[in-house]
Amino acid sequence: MKKRILLLAGGQSGEHEVSLMSARSVLNALPRDQFDVTPVVISKQGRWLPPTETQRALESGEAATGGDLVLHRAASAEGYDAVFPLLHGPMGEDGTVQGLLTLAGIPFVGSGVLGSAVSMDKVMTKQVLASAGIPQVAWALAVRREWQQQPDSVRERAAALGYPLFVKPANLGSSVGISKVARAEDLDGALNLAFSLDRRVILEAMTAHKPREVEVGILGNDAPIASPVGELRFEADFYDYETKYTEGRATMHIPAPLSAEVAEQVRALALRAFRALDCAGLARVDFFYVEETGELLLNEVNTMPGFTTTSMYPKLFEAAGLSYSALVTRLVELALEER
Ligand code: ATP
Ligand code: MG
Ligand code: MG
Ligand code: MG
Repeated sequence: MKKRILLLAGGQSGEHEVSLMSARSVLNALPRDQFDVTPVVISKQGRWLPPTETQRALESGEAATGGDLVLHRAASAEGYDAVFPLLHGPMGEDGTVQGLLTLAGIPFVGSGVLGSAVSMDKVMTKQVLASAGIPQVAWALAVRREWQQQPDSVRERAAALGYPLFVKPANLGSSVGISKVARAEDLDGALNLAFSLDRRVILEAMTAHKPREVEVGILGNDAPIASPVGELRFEADFYDYETKYTEGRATMHIPAPLSAEVAEQVRALALRAFRALDCAGLARVDFFYVEETGELLLNEVNTMPGFTTTSMYPKLFEAAGLSYSALVTRLVELALEER
């Protein structure tokens, strides 16, 4: 019997369009002799689109409107064997949709409520990983109300970290809302931008030297495996949205030119982080490697990483001998696995 899969895409976050790109690739790759796949695009307003509108959104790649309320459609998700929530960012990668599917009793690809929620929030992630002894940059939290009522205390926190520093919405991805702040004069603008997107904002110190950026894929549930390590290289000041999604702005190097020891250290730290955060299914764990000092710092954990055929996560497993379609098939198997 073919497995019936509901593929969720789009969603309410700033990464809606990125999700549509990922979903198109997965839709083409799930073997039709094993799976019966129904895509449903979730609009930016959080409505689940009927088939024709879903098809239109997937083909055009543009944000759609209309559709039904979440709870109404979730009930009809009951006929599926598994859901692939290929959603990035808040209201999709953060435990909300995972909670809905858990309540509905439908297995799904990826981390559950806890792993998704903690990994989505960069501050919560840092706190959990610090307690697991994983090296990270120095950081500070600020919440919107504080920024509105005691801006000087937020500015002091930034000054204590030193410039340049990074300001980020705590719960987002694709570098949306992230600024590299070189001087104190530019701090307010960066904070205003980040707070327009999230109630929680993280301030992060930078390493003394420009770090190399290496990433590793994790696959599995309670016995996860790590992929080879990949590296991203680009000319831009940091890996911003434009650099991520404009053809030719960044290059991927798999395996990353690192010593065997460093590569092994990356994989071991990533596996430790995956377990500490109670992740499941998949995650892409991003690191900074400071060549001058040999320092390896964990940057973040993405529980639903970019998933087009040319994205880092599938490329990392391809290098390990797992094709894109074998990978998505494995992810569905992991969703159905007894834990
Ligand atoms: P993703 O699309 O991978 O989910 P994201 O939006 O969650 O990304 P980050 O990975 O936290 O954002 O940061 C985006 C980029 O900004 C990094 O890849 C890196 O280039 C730069 N960056 C972020 N934080 C720091 C830091 N503390 N020091 C140096 N560079 C940083
Ligand atoms: Mg991220
Ligand atoms: Mg992300
Ligand atoms: Mg990242």
